[in-house]
Amino acid sequence: MTDDNCIFCRIAGGTIPSATLYEDEQFRVILDLGPASRGHALILPKEHFEDVCQLDEGIAAKVLPLGAKIGAAMKKALGCAGFNLVQNNGKAAGQTVSHFHMHVIPRYEDGPSMVSWIPGEITSEELEEVAETIKKSL
Ligand code: AMP
Ligand code: ZN
Repeated sequence: MTDDNCIFCRIAGGTIPSATLYEDEQFRVILDLGPASRGHALILPKEHFEDVCQLDEGIAAKVLPLGAKIGAAMKKALGCAGFNLVQNNGKAAGQTVSHFHMHVIPRYEDGPSMVSWIPGEITSEELEEVAETIKKSL
């Protein structure tokens, strides 16, 4: 299903033009309009899923291989040294468009640092406690 009010549905469906670098029956891969680095791309399923929790399992199974294919092409074509696959779920996690998407962000040797965090500290008791808490909801 698609949602006429969703910008990524309209881009993925071709109603709104985009710089498309890959398309098949289920996906469109476009360049991000606010790129974190040269070549920053977004993998968009053509169907509307709000986030990874709603994503169809068949579509989900194809997202990582597609990310690998796009990333490998970026290394070849753009000369990036690596790439990040990044996927945000929920406002608190930085999701600004409520249509599942996977970022493919080329990383260059002299590029800015990004997609990083400051490692915290935790005791083995706390690790155990957090693991047990999450496990109960699986
Ligand atoms: P997120 O913050 O994970 O929801 O990512 C949304 C991304 O979509 C951001 O990197 C935006 O720059 C990008 N974006 C928003 N609107 C468009 C658009 N019309 N075309 C291409 N990229 C877009
Ligand atoms: Zn949508």
